[in-house]
Parts: sequence; structure tokens; C-alpha cells
Amino acid sequence: MNKPASVPEHFDAVVVGAGFSGLYMLYRLRQLGLSVKVFDSAGDVGGTWYWNRYPGARCDIPTTDYTYSFDPELEKEWTWSEKYATQPEILEYLRFVADRHGLRSDIEFSTAVTSARWDEPAKRWRITTDRGKEVRCRYYIMATGCLSMPKSPDIEGAGRFAGQVYFTSRWPHEGADFTGQRVAVIGTGSSGIQSIPLIARQARQLTVFQRTANFSIPAHNGPAPADRLEQLDEGRDAYRHAARWSRGGVPLEPTDVLGVTASESVRQERFETAWEQGELFGILNVFADQGVNPASNDIVAEMIREKIRSAVKDPETAEALCPKDHYFGTKRPCLDTGYFETYNLPHVRLVDLRKHPIVSITEDGIETADESFGFDAIVYATGFDAMTGALVAADVAGRDGLSLEEKWAPGPSTYLGLMTAGFPNFFMLTGPGSPSVLSNMTVSIEQHVDWVARCLEDMRDEGLETIEPTALAEAGWDQHVQDCGAITLYPTANSWYMGANVPGKPRVFLPYIGGVDAYRQACDEVAAQDYLGFRMTGPGGARCRDGVVRSMQPDVAMVLEFVAALGLPPMETLSAADARALMAATAEDRPPGPEVGEVTDGVIPGPAGDLPYRLYRPAGPPGGSRPLVVYFHGGGWVLGNLDSDDPLCRDLCARSGAVVVSVNYRHAPEVRFPAAALDAFAAVQWADANAIELGGIPGQLAVAGWSAGANVAAVACQLTRDAAGPHICGQLLICPVVDSDMTRPSYEENADGYILTTALMRWFWDHYADPADRGDPVAAPLRGDLQGLPPACIVAADFDPLRDEGVAYARALEAAGVPVRLTRARGHTHTSVTMVDVVISGAPVRAEIGEALRDFFPSAEPPGM
Ligand SMILES: Cc1cc2nc3c(=O)[nH]c(=O)nc-3n(C[C@H](O)[C@H](O)[C@H](O)COP(=O)(O)OP(=O)(O)OC[C@H]3O[C@@H](n4cnc5c(N)ncnc54)[C@H](O)[C@@H]3O)c2cc1C
Repeated sequence: MNKPASVPEHFDAVVVGAGFSGLYMLYRLRQLGLSVKVFDSAGDVGGTWYWNRYPGARCDIPTTDYTYSFDPELEKEWTWSEKYATQPEILEYLRFVADRHGLRSDIEFSTAVTSARWDEPAKRWRITTDRGKEVRCRYYIMATGCLSMPKSPDIEGAGRFAGQVYFTSRWPHEGADFTGQRVAVIGTGSSGIQSIPLIARQARQLTVFQRTANFSIPAHNGPAPADRLEQLDEGRDAYRHAARWSRGGVPLEPTDVLGVTASESVRQERFETAWEQGELFGILNVFADQGVNPASNDIVAEMIREKIRSAVKDPETAEALCPKDHYFGTKRPCLDTGYFETYNLPHVRLVDLRKHPIVSITEDGIETADESFGFDAIVYATGFDAMTGALVAADVAGRDGLSLEEKWAPGPSTYLGLMTAGFPNFFMLTGPGSPSVLSNMTVSIEQHVDWVARCLEDMRDEGLETIEPTALAEAGWDQHVQDCGAITLYPTANSWYMGANVPGKPRVFLPYIGGVDAYRQACDEVAAQDYLGFRMTGPGGARCRDGVVRSMQPDVAMVLEFVAALGLPPMETLSAADARALMAATAEDRPPGPEVGEVTDGVIPGPAGDLPYRLYRPAGPPGGSRPLVVYFHGGGWVLGNLDSDDPLCRDLCARSGAVVVSVNYRHAPEVRFPAAALDAFAAVQWADANAIELGGIPGQLAVAGWSAGANVAAVACQLTRDAAGPHICGQLLICPVVDSDMTRPSYEENADGYILTTALMRWFWDHYADPADRGDPVAAPLRGDLQGLPPACIVAADFDPLRDEGVAYARALEAAGVPVRLTRARGHTHTSVTMVDVVISGAPVRAEIGEALRDFFPSAEPPGM
């Protein structure tokens, strides 16, 4: 390595990478009048498309969409020849872009950036290259690519092979000729699947070593689809706008057809249409629930496996090629041209490494556990250290010398995938925590570049020179990224999305799966709210509006959007009868909740007549006795009945292993305070007295309720204590009403927009109790004597007007010596935790609730689910 030059050059910005990201970033920075230097270790522009020159290399997003949109003139001047363009054509396109905008003059090729250090006093980055150059800059921008750091083959003896060795990701510019050769291909990811059919055309003998069978669908390549071109011709701007605000970066109407409920003919029809279309987002959109529901996913997966079985003649090979160890889509599916049919050729053979693992590479071939193979050439299609590999390898150290490698040892942490705390003025384009590899990347790249450019422009306008996310904002975003992943099947796969292909890499879901549209919205909101979560400093002063841009669970947000779109009248503007009818109508199409052993209806004698109840027995051998849970439904003492909370009761029964007796009580305004509470008290006494007939264990009884049901459950505990019996083992209070004081902050913060509103709560109180009665502990149990009450589990949801009173009750019970488990329903609303099988993120909270119920009982049997 040469000695560093004595006088480092200074630039406003340094960009690493001259692919799609780096080229557009350079263009935008120049527009801002900034001095810029771009480095790339490649010999020319192109990034991915410079390096990946293997036979068959193509994009897998239609090229009409996998293209820049920032320059309308460019769009007119360039016409893609195929639906999925080849690598040479995409490379040619990027060269054309570079020439058109004269970009090369600011790019230094064949130069790798080897380190970067933040110089705090100077507020500059010091950057060194493998050519011994040192440059300084204010803004350091990584356009280093998500799939640019090849994964070195972790196979014993890999360096020993004396024949020709190729890596799909570093293919020689002069190409490779396999004519007459015995060739091995190791790896059946996208690059393997694209190259294998073409290598098979030349090779005398081709052996494919497969560790993981992957899903692939035929690309049906050819001319760009006429309908797509028509759409573009009719309104290019509208089309590009639709792409920017789509989930994946390609305009597409998300289906609402559920795989689990669709008829067989609808399933077939939707699948065959997607199969014929040959597009990734199409096959991922056969059913709305295929990414989250294993049963729905299995339907699509099995249909693809059937296609593989019908394409491959040898049944054993076909079976080995059928992916069975991951849900469809949870590893990036591939698009191919004749991949599976290639295995019908007599000179092509598949070796399943799960059955016949490679022991070592030898001088002249490959040895598996039970066979020796001789080869003239080995092709490694072994993938990339995705998303973080190139960033970490560039040796970046921020404030206090902390390196990215050290900071990210437990997994990458970013704000919006764009920046990371401790690294001022350090930007990542398509970094971990952004939609990146789950999207049409050109759309994501343009969004990132535009956001960064606008941010730098805003900073300049306001005399600010440094920007860095706060720890709070970053932690919030990391959590949101994981929350979005957690409601899908994606984290279940050993995929490169999870870092699972690189030994020792932490298992973290790397990309943001909430959608290109949702991501863009979040970024726009951050900018609009004075760069929420960023700390900025400069001659213009210092400023920081700290906060978390997304803290609601993603599926809860979807439900709220859905409800808002229905345009329903606010409940508090309706009569009680109309509100009840509306509530029943909105519950019509919901999933039924889990199966339980038995459900029976009956009546119990209440203080003023019979009260209906519904009993849920857990699955399991008949006859066994179980603890009893007496449950009261929610609905503000006005709404609700045995049907309204049926899925939740099933869920509680299945999770706790207890018999759940859901009791209806008299409703307001027909019968007002204290009827509901007195009914609840009577129901508890009756259940205890009839425990054996109900299939319960005498003395093992808990109460539970949601919302106003939790109110009467809590009151029943106090009344039972005062009546000296029966013994209650525990009280489960889900988002309870425990006080009539509506001045706590959560009433203000969550006043509107989260289904239960402050106005609706007032309407409930007005229907239930006279103002003079609202301070009575039978209405507001928080105001009662809390000594000697049963252990409690209280669920408090973040976006609930009742949150603070639930927390206050927990604290007050604790202070009175009552054991309390306070479960925070993070990112949930008053209603979302109860939405069984609709709000997937509620499942962990309900699992906790189930555990709490089991803990109430001294000798509970394991649950039946
Ligand atoms: C075979 C293949 C097919 C793909 N097909 C699609 C597709 O159809 N649709 C899609 O959306 N995405 C696709 N992708 C993803 C693709 O990577 C992106 O679409 C896009 O090309 C990324 O552009 P980029 O500029 O961000 O990164 P890259 O194109 O990866 O460019 C990064 C550049 O940074 C350089 N670099 C990295 N580190 C350093 C350093 N320390 N010093 C100097 N230079 C450095 C690299 O040499 C590289 O040239 C594909 C990827 C592969 C590998």
C-alpha cells in the first residue's frame, strides 16, 4: 500500500459505490452544489451489474419498473428490450445514465475505501482508500449495496482445487466457456438457478450441489408486457407515483382473498394466473394471508411443489428439488427459465447436500460423504453477506472510536435504515431496517437518495452541519422493524434476510417488511416533524425533537386504517340500540377463534332474573376437572353479549386450560348502576357453588374481564372479599375501567383515533351511572379498599384512554400488598389485544395472559393448545 498523500483532499460529501444508489446520489448532491467524490472498487459504474456477469444474470423485477424514474428525458431515450433485461443490458443502461449526466468525472474507480474515522473536533470524516489516499468530507454516504459482499465459501479445502474456479458474483469479464467440461455448481439460490440452465447447455457434465431447495417460478421472459407498456404510455407519472406508494415498489393491488377461506377453484385460478404472469410480487400476492398464515402459505407452496414434480421426470430428483424447510416467500423466491427442466437432461445431476454433505474440495474435484467427483471447473453460487456485509467491511468508526462492527455485533441498529446513532453525518442507502431487498430496489434507492438530499438541503438552509439519530428514535425504529417482521412468517426461515447464511452472524430480521409505502410515509413524517428523532447541530444552533416515529403494532395500525376507511358514525352519536347493531355487524366476518373441547350455553339465576352464560371446556380427555374462570365481556356496560367476546373466551380457555364461563349481565341504559356489578358478584357466587357441575375444581376459581367487564370483575372481587367468600384465586383485568376520573394523561393522549375514544367513554359512563354514583367503589373500584384482594394480572395498552387508570390500579393494589402482574400491551389499543386471529401481534400478550391465568391456580394442568 502506498503512503497516504500528505495533503488530504476535502469534499462536502464522499459516496462509496457507483451502482444505482451511488450514481443517483452523486447526481442529486451535484444539484445541491456540493463537492463530491465517489469511490468504487469496481472498474466502472454498475455495482451489482458490473460484478454479476454470470450466464443468465438478469433482474427479477420487470425492467419497466427496475429503472430510474428521476429523469423523464432518460425514460424517453431508453427502451428496455425484454420483460427481464440481461445483465449486459442493465450495465449498458447504467453506463448510459453516467454518460448522459457526465457522472464519471467525480468517480474514482478501482479504488476500495478501507476505513473511515469521525473527527469530532473537525466535524469531518477522514477516509482512506486502498490506493493510499486520504480524503476528508462532511457527509459520508454508503451506497455500498445490499448484495455486494460475496460470502466466502465455508467449505473445507476450498482453496485446494486445481481446476477453474468461478464465483457468480465475480464473474470474469471475458466470460467462461464450459464446452466439453465437467462442471460443478455449488448453490441453488437466485444466481445458481439463473445460471444452471445455461451452464448445462455447454458442459459435458453438470453436477449441482444443493443445500437448500428453493422456490422458483418461470419468468416467462420475452418482450416487455404490452399491458405494462400501455399503462406507462397512458400516464408515466401516475404509474411511477403508484409504484412509490405501493407495498413493494411495483404498482399492484393487494388482494383481500384469504387462502384459508377461498374455494378450491378460486385458489387454483389465482395461483395459475400468477404462475402464468411470472412476477415475484404476483406470486407473493396470491392470497392476502400467505405471508402470515402457515395454512394459507402451505396452499401456495404445495401448488408450486406440484409444478416442480410435473416438470422433473425423475421422482427422487423432483422431491429433492421441492422446498420443504421454509415457508414460501420467506427466502427470496427465484424466477427462472427452464431451471427445473434442466434436471431432465442426461448429463445433469443433482446432489442433495442434506443427504450427501460435502466433506471437502480436493485438488481435482469434490468429495461428499459417500462419493468422489472429478471436475474441470467449480462455480460457486453461494450468495452474499447481505445488507450489512459491505458496510461493516468498510471499517467505519464513529464518535469515541466505536466501530460499526462493534456496535452491530448483536445485530444492526439503525434509524430508518438511513443512519445509526454514534455515527454523525454517516448515511446508508438501503441500509438494514429499510425495505431494500424486499422491494423493487430502484424505487427504494430513489426514495433514500431524495430523502438524504432534502435533509442536507434543509440542514444547509438552517445553518446546521451535523445530524445523528437519538438512541430513543433508533431503538423505536429497531423495535418497529422487528415488530413488522414478527407478525409474518419471514423470521421462521434460515434466510439471508435473517443473516442465517453467514456463520456467526446474529439472527435479526434485517429488512423492513412494512412496505415501501409505509416506509416512505414514516420518512416523510420524520422530516415534516422537524426531523423527529434526529439531533442536529451547527452555526445555526442545536436542535432535537426526540421521539419515536412508529410505536403502534403494524397490524393494529392496519386495523385502524381499515376501520377509518369504513367511515362509520362515532358510536357516541348513536342510540344504544343502533350502537349494539353496529357492533354486531362489524363482528360478522371475524375469525371464530381457536377450537376448544366443548361449548355449551345455559342460564344462571341472577339477583333480578336469569343471566345467560356460555361455558368453554378445553380440549382434552372428557371428565377431568379444571380450574374455573368466570369471564365478563366488554362494551362499556351498554354493548356486548356472549357472542361479542366469543373468540377471546375460546382463546383464554385454550391458553389457560381452564373452564371459562362467560356470563352476560344486565346492560345500561335499560338497567343502570349497580346492576351489572351485582350480577357479576352473583355469577361468581353461583359458579363457585356449582363448580363441580361446571367441570371445575372447587376452590380454584378466578375472575376475568375486558374493559367494563374487567370493571365488574374487579368489583366482584371486592364484594366477594367483603362477603367473606367465596375464595377467588386471581383476577385478570384486561384494559379495565377502574375509575371515573377522566383527567389522566392517557385520556388526553389517546382521546381519539383508537376506537375507544374519550367521548365514547363519557357516553358509556353517562349511560351507566349518575355522576353522584361514579365515585362509589362499586362503580370505580380504584377508590375502594384494596386490602386482601386476589392476585391480579392487569393488561394496560399503550393507545388506550384507560391505560393510566389500569396502571394506577396495579400500583394501588401493589401498595395494598396484593401481588400484581402488570402486562403492557405494547403498541396496542383498547380493543386490539382481544382481536383473536386478526391482530397477530396480540398473540404474545394473550400468551402472557394465559400464563398469568395458569399461575393463579395451584395445580393447573397444561393447556390443551
Ligand atoms: C444477481 C442480482 C440480481 C438482482 N436483481 C434485482 C432485481 O431484479 N430487482 C431489484 O430490485 N434488485 C435486484 N438486485 C439487488 C441489487 O443489488 C439492487 O437492485 C441494486 O443494483 C443495488 O444498487 P446499489 O447501488 O445500492 O448497490 P450495488 O449495485 O451493489 O453497488 C455497490 C457498489 O459499492 C461498491 N463498494 C462496496 N464497498 C466498497 C468499498 N469499501 N469501497 C469501494 N467500493 C465499494 C461495490 O463495488 C459496488 O460496485 C439484484 C442483485 C443481484 C446480485
